[in-house]
Amino acid sequence: MTLLEDAQAIQADLVQLRRTLHREPEIGSNLPLTQAKVLAALDGLPLEITTGTALTSVTAVLRGGQPGPAVLLRSDMDALPVAELSGESFASQIDGAMHACGHDLHMAILVGVARMLSARRDELPGSIVFMFQPAEEGPGGAEPMIDEGVLDAAGTRAIAAYGLHVSSAHNPGGVFSGRRGSLMSASDTVAVTVLGQGGHGSRPHRAKDPIPAACEMVTALSTRVTRSHDIFDPVVITVGSFHAGTAANVIPASAHFDATVRSFSPDARAKVHQSIAEVLTGIAHAHGLEVQIDRRDGYPVTVNDDTEAEFVAATITDLSGAERYRWMDHPESGSEDFSFVLAAVPGSFVFLGACPQELDPATAPVNHAPQARFDDGVLADGAALLAELAVRRLARAATADALPAPREGEAAIV
Ligand SMILES: [Zn+2]
Ligand SMILES: [Zn+2]
Repeated sequence: MTLLEDAQAIQADLVQLRRTLHREPEIGSNLPLTQAKVLAALDGLPLEITTGTALTSVTAVLRGGQPGPAVLLRSDMDALPVAELSGESFASQIDGAMHACGHDLHMAILVGVARMLSARRDELPGSIVFMFQPAEEGPGGAEPMIDEGVLDAAGTRAIAAYGLHVSSAHNPGGVFSGRRGSLMSASDTVAVTVLGQGGHGSRPHRAKDPIPAACEMVTALSTRVTRSHDIFDPVVITVGSFHAGTAANVIPASAHFDATVRSFSPDARAKVHQSIAEVLTGIAHAHGLEVQIDRRDGYPVTVNDDTEAEFVAATITDLSGAERYRWMDHPESGSEDFSFVLAAVPGSFVFLGACPQELDPATAPVNHAPQARFDDGVLADGAALLAELAVRRLARAATADALPAPREGEAAIV
């Protein structure tokens, strides 16, 4: 039997698990009910399981029957503070919480992969690390799991990492999409306080008015973005909150604004923060003021390794046909903390369309919407892909090891 046939054989079980998870969503880093369901679903498999200390994560290692490196597969676990309006028979029973981003499907898929590969354990030339991660929607679970050693859970650093994300719209059901290089944006926040000196509104020369300078900063940031940044490596700065003063005739001592900063490459991210610092300090000093810039980094840019992205595309085409894979023209403007894993280990993240067949992907409610619905008919496809990626990646490593090492003076066999 192929892995795809294995996955199809357990499809009904995966649907049941996904719906059980969907009924009891939990938010953030502490997901005891979800963790218990994942552990119960993995029970009896030949896995080395550890749970997190900082958060309710689950790390499971499957050691293959033959020696070899480790490959990491990841699922997030958390839901969102959304009151569900999907109308599904298995809708959330927890007030104000919903699996509106499809992480319930991701968990069911990864459990399916663990079952399928456990049954083929003897054939595996290496180990698989299954990473079940809370807090993707915030405050972030990948970084604490890395700190607790998930990348080295098999005893050696994973040589590759893969993950997938379902979408309730955009792609037709069962159609994957991906990209070489940048896949999703970095999302940072900057909190700015302009410090002046308060005074009487009729005598501005006796004060240091922070309001005109802060206004100038807001418009100058937009100008700077258009003048210093490549339009084909875009950045976005939006000032979404601006506060100063209490009365028409009082010059306040300070003004405050907050901006969200999005970027689509590590270079652009570094450069835009440099631009912000230059513009804000330059304007402050031009007016004899001081400025405090509090940069709060969110998730970095999600960057796929080119070779691994091509490997994922080729594997999907091989498994299901070329019509089931689309190369994306542009990165997605959302952010994802699998980016921390991909910054440490070469790998690839891929999207899987889970739009219900009766809806139009162009108009279906998107991820995070209270009406979002995900077709769990795609679970077997997702599980087959991740299982196939792990098996083929280990096989590729074994083949590379089997090649004779070049002797001195000889060209390497490639
Ligand atoms: Zn989400
Ligand atoms: Zn998500």
